[in-house]
Amino acid sequence: MIRTRYAPSPTGFMHIGNLRTALYEYLIARRGGGAFILRIEDTDQGRLVEGATDAIFETMRLTGLSFDEGPGIGGEYGPYVQSERKADYLPHAKRLAESGKAYYCFCDKDRLDGLADERGLKKYDRHCAALSSEEVKSKLESGVPYVIRQLIPEGKTTFSDEVFGDITIENSEMEDQILIKSDGMPTYNFANVIDDHAMAITHVVRGSEYLTSTPKYKLLYEALGWDIPVFVHLPLLQNEQGQKISKRNGDASIPQLLEQGFLPEAIVNYAALLGWSPSDNREIFTLAELEKVFEMKNISKSPSAVDINKLKWVNGEHIKALSEEKFYELALPYLKEAVKKAGADYAALAKITQSRVTVVKDCAELVDFIDELPDYDIELYTHKKMKTNPEIAKQSLQLSLAALKSLSAWNHDALFAAVSGIAETNGLKNGQVLWPIRTALSGKPTTPCGATEICELLGKDEALRRMEIGLEKL
Ligand code: GLU
Repeated sequence: MIRTRYAPSPTGFMHIGNLRTALYEYLIARRGGGAFILRIEDTDQGRLVEGATDAIFETMRLTGLSFDEGPGIGGEYGPYVQSERKADYLPHAKRLAESGKAYYCFCDKDRLDGLADERGLKKYDRHCAALSSEEVKSKLESGVPYVIRQLIPEGKTTFSDEVFGDITIENSEMEDQILIKSDGMPTYNFANVIDDHAMAITHVVRGSEYLTSTPKYKLLYEALGWDIPVFVHLPLLQNEQGQKISKRNGDASIPQLLEQGFLPEAIVNYAALLGWSPSDNREIFTLAELEKVFEMKNISKSPSAVDINKLKWVNGEHIKALSEEKFYELALPYLKEAVKKAGADYAALAKITQSRVTVVKDCAELVDFIDELPDYDIELYTHKKMKTNPEIAKQSLQLSLAALKSLSAWNHDALFAAVSGIAETNGLKNGQVLWPIRTALSGKPTTPCGATEICELLGKDEALRRMEIGLEKL
């Protein structure tokens, strides 16, 4: 059975690249009818950021990436927080040392500092690998501080990656990495391998920055005599400035994107497209749809770049797909802020803005003219396609004002019939009557609905008042 895990280090809040990793792990597990696990990798206690673990849970919850095993849920392979597994790591390292695949190293800081070459790079010189077992025993007995290092064998290491193919590196390029630090705690790389095995992970999915460490991981699996999982490294993700996406480069975290008004389902959809595309180039998906179509073989190895405009477009598509009730609920606080007049029909305002915004809060600026007519230039009455200009606008506004004053039913149908009548009797095109009304009522070059709908929203008195203001201007 497929078992994948998302293994975040709570050193900051999740950004879109982290979410993509979690999503692909989730999808690979779901596609294969397997299990998706959350493991918190908090071995580096010095870099922990307060609140980051809670924010990870919250992001997973909001985006619908439900995990089958993890902190707070449990599972037979737990605990799922590395700091709660401390006791599990040292015995494995000791076992490796006994079989000659790792060794105790007693070198102190001064000696290690002295190994720096002219560029300041230090590669451990294996000094302690040559100690006899008696020397090691006596140092251990007398309490000399030690670390345990992996003994990298001679030769080359090849591993196979689902996305990047076969990768070979000369073992001489690798250092005898530390597995257990002098405080008895595992290094990040060691804990990661021990836990992936302990949790029976079959597919290790993560960012391509881990490609260079993977030969060491492979050697560790071999030294421990364990099956090697399938490696799936995801393509490099760049931000809009062409830098690798990272919390340190100031890239927006998922909580920040949510705060800016992006819908969780749109963020998930967008993250899916950053390194994967279906065979038919379709772009809009719900999570449930992704679960049906996602295929590991369609993950690309070319870097992808985050494009906020594309995210906005995806968000707009998901907004269109919301039910009217849901959009109303999300838009209401913004609409209330923008339109304060008594009796405002917020449901109607939500309805006319839903298909026109890429982020929910933008509905506010679309309807800000309702409360107050903005000052505008009469050039707004000029519209080539509608064949109007200030002169025609003046004539048609006069006609409209006269006709609409006596209109008793103030609704869209009645208004439209009246306006069409004015156009016909006076040899004008509908647009030559409608455009000036729309301009006079809104003072804006674009509005989320047409002239007659705006008439209805404003009510008869206010609509006629604004048309009079328009005439005065003209
Ligand atoms: N803890 C690592 C990170 O947050 C994950 C590495 C892995 O998935 O193996 O980047």
